[in-house]
Formats: sequence, C-alpha cells, structure tokens
Amino acid sequence: MNNMGIKRVLLIMAMQEEAKPTLNSLGLKRSGLLNPHLDLVFYTGNYRGTSVNLVLNGTCKNHSVDHIGTQVSTLSAHLGIELVEPDIVINAGTAGGFISDNAAVGDVYLSNPYICYHDRRINIPKFVEYGIGFYPSIPTIRMAKELGLRTGVISTGNSLDYTEKDLEQMRNHKGVVKDMEAAAIAWVCEQHKKPFLAIKAITDLVDGDKPTEEEFLQNLNKTSEILGKQTLRVVDWLIKNGIDEE
Ligand code: SAH
Repeated sequence: MNNMGIKRVLLIMAMQEEAKPTLNSLGLKRSGLLNPHLDLVFYTGNYRGTSVNLVLNGTCKNHSVDHIGTQVSTLSAHLGIELVEPDIVINAGTAGGFISDNAAVGDVYLSNPYICYHDRRINIPKFVEYGIGFYPSIPTIRMAKELGLRTGVISTGNSLDYTEKDLEQMRNHKGVVKDMEAAAIAWVCEQHKKPFLAIKAITDLVDGDKPTEEEFLQNLNKTSEILGKQTLRVVDWLIKNGIDEE
C-alpha cells in the first residue's frame, strides 16, 4: 500500500486508564456509545488529515469495572470495523512481558508475525491449530526498527494469571507478550480482511517474582503514558509509510 493508502484508522482499547494518554496524544473526542445496548464507547478525531477513531470497551454495569478479555473484544472490533470501515485496525494496550525475552517494564512491542491463544486447548485433529489461532499481523519489522520498538508473537488468554499448560502453549508458539484481547480482535480483522497490528506496552513480567496484579497496578499509569506516546508514533508512521508488504 502506498503512503496515500491510509485514510481511516481504528484503534481498539480495553481499559479507560490505559486509554487516557492515547486519547490525549491523538486529540480524540468522545462521540457517544457505539450501540445503545452496549457499553462500548466511541471516540473520534482527525490526525494530519487522517480520520482516527477509537473504540473503548467501556464499563461493566454489573461489576463497575472496565470490560476486558476476548468476549467484549470481538464485539468492539466487529462493530468498530462496520462503522469506521478502517484501512488499518490497531489494538493498543498493556501486557505481560518475559524476562526470558529480555523484556523490562515499559518496553513496547509490535505484533509480528502472528497472534495466538494460549488457553484454547482442543486435542482433536485440526482443532489444535484452530484453537491456537495464528491470526496474521501486518509486517512490523521495519516500523519497529525505525521507531526503536520491539516485535514478537502476542499470546492471548482470558486470565491475568496462567497455568503450566498456558505457559507451555506460549513457549510452543513463541509467545513473548501475554495479553487478554489481541487474538480476538485479530480474528475479527481476518474475517473482515482488514490489516491488523497490536501495540503492547509491558506493565508486568510474567516470569518475574512479583505478583502480576500488584506489578500491573503499580505500573499501569506510567506504562499507559508510554503507550500513548508510542501509539501516536505508530499511527504517524503508518500515515507516512503505509502498510509494508513483507
Ligand atoms: N486487576 C486489573 C485488571 C486488569 S487485567 C484492574 O483491576 O485494574 C489486565 C489488562 O491488561 C487486560 O486488558 C490485559 O490485556 C492486560 N494485561 C496486562 N498484563 C497482563 C498479563 N500479565 N497477562 C494478561 N493480560 C495482561
């Protein structure tokens, strides 16, 4: 795609606190609920002549927390894509990293070359691979190099913690970033034939010795600031360069 290719961008984010710096850095304004029955919130704006839109999962009415995980993410992705008809979909968020991949809190990864699940184990021929997913990311190696970011396989599951089996699955498919949304959104994008990438800033270290929830909450604020800055740079890069073929 040439650099005239990107006219509309769709960002999808899970938590309000995670999204604040990104909404500010891109100058996006709240436009209302995406659907009267759902908690999804739509934000929109214009960055350098490109329409930039963001779906935030919103707050669960029953439990007064942000919606997170794969269930809500398929809805935000599908409805967002139908409304915006984007040229690129970006899932921006926080995630767990691995000391074994030399990750540190605050590091930022771009998805490459695919996104997987680590908690869908279906030991029946063909369903094994179906469960893992292997949903494509756009190539991000050049972008990451030019922006000084890292790349790797993002692995999604619906728990903040993990089991030994989850860990084994992550190892097997080379997962170096653990989150709760990317694979669900990547699947919807594959269905809609929309280019997809995830940008994930590390709040906690999965193979470190601190309890994940403590480390996550301790680092959420500063990591979200980093995420906001780097997401702006990624959008800017895509507007200038378009989507790499390989
Ligand atoms: N306890 C937190 C809930 C956040 S869950 C709270 O009350 O605020 C974690 C969110 O951050 C998810 O949206 C997920 O995508 C991301 N995340 C950060 N670190 C993660 C990890 N180690 N494993 C899975 N998801 C993680």
